[in-house]
Amino acid sequence: MRESIRILFLAAEADPFVKVGGLADVAGSLPVALQNLPIKAGRNSKLDVRLILPLHGSTKINRNDLLKIKNISILFGDVNIEVQFYKYLHWKIPVYFIESDLILNASTIYSNNPTNTDQQKYALFSIAILKILELQEWQPDILHANDWHTSLTLYCLRFLEYYRSKRIKTILTLHNLPYMGGDGKDILEKYHVVPPVITKLPSWAKTQFLPLGLDSADFIVPVSPSYAQEILTTEFGCGLETYLQSRKNSIYGILNGLDQTTFDPKKDPYLVDNFDASTIQRRKNNRRELQKNLGLPCESNIVMFGMVGRINWQKGIDIAIKAFDLIDIKNWQFVLLGSGEPNLESEALDLQERHPDNVRSVFRYDERLGRLIYGGADFFLMPSRYEPCGLAQMIAMRYGCVPIVRATGGLRDTIQDGKTGFLFNGISSEALLLTIERALAVFNHQQSWHKLIRTCMNQDFGWSVSAIKYRELYQQLLIKDFQIESTN
Ligand code: ADP
Repeated sequence: MRESIRILFLAAEADPFVKVGGLADVAGSLPVALQNLPIKAGRNSKLDVRLILPLHGSTKINRNDLLKIKNISILFGDVNIEVQFYKYLHWKIPVYFIESDLILNASTIYSNNPTNTDQQKYALFSIAILKILELQEWQPDILHANDWHTSLTLYCLRFLEYYRSKRIKTILTLHNLPYMGGDGKDILEKYHVVPPVITKLPSWAKTQFLPLGLDSADFIVPVSPSYAQEILTTEFGCGLETYLQSRKNSIYGILNGLDQTTFDPKKDPYLVDNFDASTIQRRKNNRRELQKNLGLPCESNIVMFGMVGRINWQKGIDIAIKAFDLIDIKNWQFVLLGSGEPNLESEALDLQERHPDNVRSVFRYDERLGRLIYGGADFFLMPSRYEPCGLAQMIAMRYGCVPIVRATGGLRDTIQDGKTGFLFNGISSEALLLTIERALAVFNHQQSWHKLIRTCMNQDFGWSVSAIKYRELYQQLLIKDFQIESTN
């Protein structure tokens, strides 16, 4: 057993520096949870975890707190791109940032379609990580990448002479399989990265960043046990199911955890009234604030549904919209907060125009409004077509907002039907409506309803169990003769 293991955690976003979605929640909390795991001498290794991020223009950081370490340049075609490497000293663990005009000046963290700009930006970040590591003293035993944005680091690791002797091991956590980065043939060529010759990947996948990362990773970690099974099927495998089946023994589903300090209704500064499982009657004050803020009738005798998340096909926004056109009850309100696909945003706005006293559709990133929805709405909807893990339903439960969700991926793994929420199968507004009816039967019976809210709030969604599972994987990787079940 190694006394200590050094891990470099690679991500495109991390809370509190920059956040678009759940990846930021995970990258901001898992490395800290790993670092703080209790250690039993002789039984577990101590983990030295560091985080590396791109320095986006919108990163919330005081630049005076950044310590400049190195400048390097990376060849793109026959042009050198300048890259700066910083260390940030004032967080719970050491954080490195990679800066370049390409990253700093991009207008969004992710574009809606992974265009050349995103590919060029994240390829630069991924390649720079390795180049920079060569130049510094601290060396990781394990590179832990996340999603397509950092997949190329794992792929490029195989080719760099410097790393051959170091035997660095790799993990790729898979938060969302369909987001593969798009065909990056041109970008790979310009960065002088050669696609694999021998691989079990289908030919179309050889120039996409995520498949290259999957093919290079020693372990692939989908973010829930159910999703780990689903990606092996035609329905969810996105054309990689046969490849993934061949890697079955290197795939381990581990459920994401939640930073329960950040998401704590008892202390949340964004709420107008804090509460815990014994004071759930206070939730109504958050609901009133929400209604006031959004210009909804300040009714108390209503049922309020909420949704917070990226507005796209995955999340089933269209299914919810159609359901509210068909809903057959009188006193209801629906608050949607998110941003994403323009056609779905416009459908959500049309819904609000058709039901001006019932619906508010808000298209922006707004942490405070999100917390008020979690802490004030009665039900949280996630009719997702697929959901690798989903954090929003866990946050909702912690805030006593009862989830109504499609039974898929992490939603299936975190919610018990009738006990901590309501699950439905099928992908239709009718199925959602039938489940809403089932949920309202409980809502209308106060004693059962309060019991349900309290059971939700008492669930433990922290990192304790999952962080231990990651540590077990790290330890397993570093057992001397561990061999990747390689496809090459
Ligand atoms: P995904 O990672 O697929 O985007 P998750 O449910 O795992 O979805 O995580 C989404 C996270 O981002 C949650 O913390 C959610 O509250 C937050 N979030 C998403 N969109 C918004 C928004 N527009 N305003 C505030 N918070 C948001």
